[in-house]
Amino acid sequence: MQKIEHIGIAVKDLDQAEKLYAGILGAKPYKREEVKSEGVLTSFLRNGPNKIELLQSTKPDGPIAKFIEKKGEGMHHVAFAVQDIKSEMKRLAAEGFRLLNEEPKKGADNKWICFVHPKSANGVLIELCQERKEDI
Ligand code: ZN
Repeated sequence: MQKIEHIGIAVKDLDQAEKLYAGILGAKPYKREEVKSEGVLTSFLRNGPNKIELLQSTKPDGPIAKFIEKKGEGMHHVAFAVQDIKSEMKRLAAEGFRLLNEEPKKGADNKWICFVHPKSANGVLIELCQERKEDI
């Protein structure tokens, strides 16, 4: 496990949230990307080591829409950068953590990702992410 790669925040209105977080971070969004498989439109902002991923649902029954319905807007996940996602997944599974996917999947911003169930982590959804340079 390396540094915190980003914090994911579930929002209802991406345009509004981009403006707000640009003000907080003092940096404009550098990328918008839709992840169709997750039903989500993401926007990334970065200033120095701080990176925020804003997530807006693209479908009414998507995971972000459901999250907001249950908990309201707010912090959705913490993402940790890892060097070797497959071995981290193996290690966490062996330690009894519940992984939400068995194989790494393609996430936004050029990453291989895997989620750890919040029930395994004191109510926090954890994302592992590895830079996606090639297929693994
Ligand atoms: Zn994320």
